[in-house]
Amino acid sequence: MSDLSLDKLLQKAENKLQDVHEIVQEKAYELIGQSYKESIFVSITEGFRSIEHQHKLYSQGRTTPGSIVTNAKGGYSYHNYGLAFDIALLDNDGRVDWTIDRRWNKAGEIGKRIGLEWGGDWTSLKDYPHFQYTFGLSLSELRSGKGPKKQAPKASSMLIKYGDRGNHVQLIQRMLIHLGYSLFGGADGIFGSSTFKAVKAFQQALYLQVDGIVGPKTLEKLYNNFNKTMF
Ligand SMILES: [Zn+2]
Repeated sequence: MSDLSLDKLLQKAENKLQDVHEIVQEKAYELIGQSYKESIFVSITEGFRSIEHQHKLYSQGRTTPGSIVTNAKGGYSYHNYGLAFDIALLDNDGRVDWTIDRRWNKAGEIGKRIGLEWGGDWTSLKDYPHFQYTFGLSLSELRSGKGPKKQAPKASSMLIKYGDRGNHVQLIQRMLIHLGYSLFGGADGIFGSSTFKAVKAFQQALYLQVDGIVGPKTLEKLYNNFNKTMF
């Protein structure tokens, strides 16, 4: 078994996923969690990339020194709109391991099951590390200023997970505390590592999928158990 904890992977991902669309972030966390269960350690290497930065990358190997790293000009990558992220796979010791083997296909499969598009499926230029979620929007639509709709939380956005803050987190924390789980900092409304651990312990006790993410099933069990102890 590896020393790499899911907690650590999720924490690292959180930094890299800043400015990535919320729903895409959730999918990235799901990819990390589900891959972890298969002993595939996913690390997020890049998320949002500004158009300016993309221009710089594009000029590398063309008008500036270095080798060519991308075929996309600024505004021509889903990274520029916070709708894509790249991953690396880590070995048991937490080192990046670029060997292209079955782990990549498995990670790609998991990503697609979650609804992501995977660059490993591209025929022209395979991009194994790349995942994107386009909301059905083309790059030219995005360039013209269209963006994903902000309303209507989908089922997948009902996930409450590491890094979240707010009343909904506090509610979950109150229920966990009431059920006897100890939380460092109490019900502070911040989904940090102690909340993450408590959620996992709760999931384990209730034979749920142990991923530390509060989705519909975990939420339902939390409510049920909380209500039971109220009477
Ligand atoms: Zn990419």
